[in-house]
Amino acid sequence: MIFSKKIGLMLFLAMSSLAVNAQNEKPNVLVILADDLGYGDVGFTGSKEIFTPNLDKLANNGVVFKNGYVTHPYCGPSRAGLITGRYQARFGLEINLTNSPFDMYNGLPLSEQTFAKRLQKTGYTTGAIGKWHLGGSDTFHPNNRGFDYFYGFLSGGHSYFPENVKTHMPLINPKNNKPHYSANEGSYWPLTRNNKAGEFNEYLTTALSKDAAKFIQSSDKPFCLYLAYNAPHLPLEAPKETIEKYNHIKDKKRRTYAAMIDEMDQGIGLVLESLKKSGKYDNTLIFFLSDNGGPRKNGETFANNGNFREGKGSMYEGGCHVPFILHWPKGNLNVGEFDGLVSALDIAATAVAVGNGDTSGETLEGTNLIPYLTGKQKGSPHNALYWRMQDGMAWAVRTEKTKFLKLNKKGVKPELFDMKKDPFEAKDIVAKNTKKRAQMAKLWNEWNQGNTSNRYLQSGEYQKKRLDLYKKMYEKEQQAAAKKKLLVIE
Ligand code: CA
Repeated sequence: MIFSKKIGLMLFLAMSSLAVNAQNEKPNVLVILADDLGYGDVGFTGSKEIFTPNLDKLANNGVVFKNGYVTHPYCGPSRAGLITGRYQARFGLEINLTNSPFDMYNGLPLSEQTFAKRLQKTGYTTGAIGKWHLGGSDTFHPNNRGFDYFYGFLSGGHSYFPENVKTHMPLINPKNNKPHYSANEGSYWPLTRNNKAGEFNEYLTTALSKDAAKFIQSSDKPFCLYLAYNAPHLPLEAPKETIEKYNHIKDKKRRTYAAMIDEMDQGIGLVLESLKKSGKYDNTLIFFLSDNGGPRKNGETFANNGNFREGKGSMYEGGCHVPFILHWPKGNLNVGEFDGLVSALDIAATAVAVGNGDTSGETLEGTNLIPYLTGKQKGSPHNALYWRMQDGMAWAVRTEKTKFLKLNKKGVKPELFDMKKDPFEAKDIVAKNTKKRAQMAKLWNEWNQGNTSNRYLQSGEYQKKRLDLYKKMYEKEQQAAAKKKLLVIE
């Protein structure tokens, strides 16, 4: 009798300590980023053409941000803002970076910390899987920027089929004897796992998803995973049988693009399955968003940004207004649509807040969204959101009510829109609203005071300015090779 009482007491103590542990357990953070995904190309934003059942389930059981934005209308700068939780203009990163393994300059500045680094410092296991695009040299490698683990590619894009990988990609293009300096060089390079070769045996989106599932399953500490798909970014490549699922889409390009999104959704399904199997589903914050809008220029009209104007690269809504959700069952969030202004910057602020991450160094600029989503805090997480492209070649500022912007086109004038009455920016009202215009300009100017000029060179400028540098390195290597004695074996 005494014995069984004792066991009972032990069991009770063990169970209550489990309960305490579960209560105190830090939540996991999973950020799933799509690449160039059109606003209207997932089920939860209204697509009837493209099937995304896994994402739709997350959206149905999570919070859908109706006014969710990224900080730049294309890849590199948008990712720099998201990963640091700071406007990338603060550190002058306003173009896509190159992918040279020798370039010590082109990368996320070392003054900045990723949200993963902030969580790593307080005990999280951290991983980055997929596209990096924040520097190609070792200095900027994800393993050196707060990620314990990396699988993927450092470049801005990648082919989806392993058979396209070339094992010999010269750093100097033999056709014109010029170094590679374009942003997307590396599309045909092998994948890497940490600093070693990583296997690549199947459709890229599936390979990344399976790797993410494995990472989740194997982490025994709270984890932070940045799963950055390159889908559905160019090149348009998808398995034949998935493309066939989309025979109801007439346009061939769009059919493949749809299949790429479908594959991504299936991959996300594998990741969610892994979370469920390992008992981590309920206590994981899952963010899903796209790094910019779907492309709508240069004949790339296969993406659909819903009713938003233009797309990738534009200061109109099509450029930066993205599909964006947060799912966290244990967080007791008010499931449904959320109207306040939300930024990709908020991911870092929220993750660091809920994970009790390190807040030293440069100030996080986003807002912890949780109090707004549980109803503790009312209103919009931001009074205004800001954009700047290359020192102000194009810019925008949006409050809940108004947007003031200038496009990246010669000779165009700034425009003003009433975002309550005209969320699709059909009617420019700048002429009749000089006072409002001045107010909006003041907001932007105040914000811009904290920025620095763009510090990076465009690939065209690379040809002119950096070519000498690369040429010298190349020539030095040639001379060294000429002097080297050939191996003699016996
Ligand atoms: Ca992109």
